This record gives sequence, structure tokens and C-alpha cells, in this order.
Amino acid sequence: MDKIMVGVDIGGTTVKIGFIHYHGDILEKWEIPTNTSSGGQKIVDDIWNSAHHKLNELKINKVSVLGIGIGAPGFIDAETGFVYEAVNIGWKNMDLAKQMKEKSNLPIFVQNDANIAALGENWIGAGNGAVNMIAVTLGTGVGGGVIANGSILNGESGMAGEIGHIKVEPDGVPCNCGGIGCLETICSATGIKRQGMDAIALNPHSKLARYYEKRGTITAKDVIDFAKDGDEMSIQIMKNTVNVLGMAIANMATMINPSKIIIGGGVSKAGEYLLDQLTAAFEKYAIPKLREVCEIKIAQLGNDAGIIGGAYLVKQYVKEL
Ligand SMILES: [Zn+2]
Repeated sequence: MDKIMVGVDIGGTTVKIGFIHYHGDILEKWEIPTNTSSGGQKIVDDIWNSAHHKLNELKINKVSVLGIGIGAPGFIDAETGFVYEAVNIGWKNMDLAKQMKEKSNLPIFVQNDANIAALGENWIGAGNGAVNMIAVTLGTGVGGGVIANGSILNGESGMAGEIGHIKVEPDGVPCNCGGIGCLETICSATGIKRQGMDAIALNPHSKLARYYEKRGTITAKDVIDFAKDGDEMSIQIMKNTVNVLGMAIANMATMINPSKIIIGGGVSKAGEYLLDQLTAAFEKYAIPKLREVCEIKIAQLGNDAGIIGGAYLVKQYVKEL
């Protein structure tokens, strides 16, 4: 039996679990609901019980499992696998690695969810083994993972690469982090939707406003689709979004001089439309020596990036042995 790694990606509504071969292909993947009741205390049990059950079902001997790599949202000490706080799942001061180790008796590795997505993309996705890369996830929020000199950059308290909280609008709107005018308040799906709602309030006869009246709601995807369709108001929203994002990633690039910047998350489904404009914005702001070596790409692994990155955490450890 080939050796496998277990990748786990803990999200607010589901936990994604995968068995990954040493060379990166997925042997099996599935999801379980995230049980956030009673402060998320059942989640570790749920994950291990489900993985254990699946090992039996597939007749995989536990000795073939090299370890478990876990991505979790929130503030994490990657050295110890300790989660200070993960608001979405109710954890506070949760000793995730220790608890999982007690259940499974396997080597356990923990990282922030944006960082494992970066590792996954860099291993077998759009990163192509870049030594210096930045991954940006444009979802409900904006996540960032940075690989510098071949390793994930964690920083002193796990906050390195939190690009979503770069300040871009001093007089902007409040962010979930308690700050004002963070990148996330503009460039996340939530931020694009908010810009859409603000524009609708100012332009009640616009195409987007009429659409909103009919549907009772709009999404970021609606704004992007209207922009692609030539609606001027939506085009302006996307121009602003991409301009702000392009400036932020150009600034961030000066820190690590990356060869790849990978854009993932729901908003990245806008594809070439986003990529072309973002590349132009990046090139406007980045100094020539930076932009000459840097390529911006759309992420390739979709929802699998986390479990593959989790598996890579284990692989990295095995390689070091
Ligand atoms: Zn913020």
C-alpha cells in the first residue's frame, strides 16, 4: 500500500477531508458538517471518527498514513497547532493539534486556512512550485498566504500575509477585524456586493437597481456579470475593486519579490475578465524589476486547495526526516 496523507480543511459550515497520495493525487475526498454547537467541542471527534471510518471502509491500514495536516480559520500558532480564536466555528484557546494527536496517535500539523490553500496551489496547482509566491483568496473575506524562500511565512503571531486587512481607505467602512477601510471591505465578495448596494442607493434607476428591485437581493457575481455585460455602473465598481487590489498586491510584492501571485476564491471565478484587469492594475503600480518576474494567475484547485495543502504540510515534514 502506498503511503497517504490526510488533508483536513475546517470551514464554518463544512469540514473537507481528503486522503492524498504522496505525489498529490486525491485517493478519496468528502465533507462533513461543522458542528459549531457547544463551542465547536465535537469537531475534533467528528473529524477523526469520519477519517477512521473511511480508512476501514477503504481497507487502508493506519500504518500507511503519514500524518494529518489541518487548515483552520482564525488566529493560529502553527508551531504548536494551538488555535487562539476561530470566531466562525466557536473555538477559543483550542489545543487543536494536541487533541487530534490524542485521538489519532498520528503526527499532526496545523496552519491557517489561507496558508494551506497557498501550499496546495503551489504544490500541484497554479503555483508550480514557486519559491516566492503570494496567494490571495477573494471569498466572503479576503485571505492571504505567503510563501517566501520556499516556506510559509507565519510571523510572530501567525498574522503574516493577512492581506485582507491592509488598509486601503482611511475613511472607509468598518471591517470585521475592528479596523476601518481594510482591503477586505472592498475586494471580497461581501465588499463587491456592498459597493453594488451603495451604487444602487445613489442610482435608483440604474440597471442594477431594477434588478435588485425584482430579485430583492444582489450578489457579487451579479455585479461582475452586469459589468461583463457592459453595465457602466457595475464596470466602475469592478474598476475600483481591481484598482485597489492591484495596488495592494503590488505593495505586498515589494516585500517578497514573488514569481507568482495566485488569485482564488469565489470572486476568482470571474476568470479572464478579472485577470486581465488585475494584471494591468498590478503593472501600473509594481516597479519594473518586480513585475518582469511576476505572473498573476487564477487558482486551479478550487475547493480542493485546502485538503491538498494540508497533505503537503505532512509531506514537508516527512521530507525533512
Ligand atoms: Zn480588517
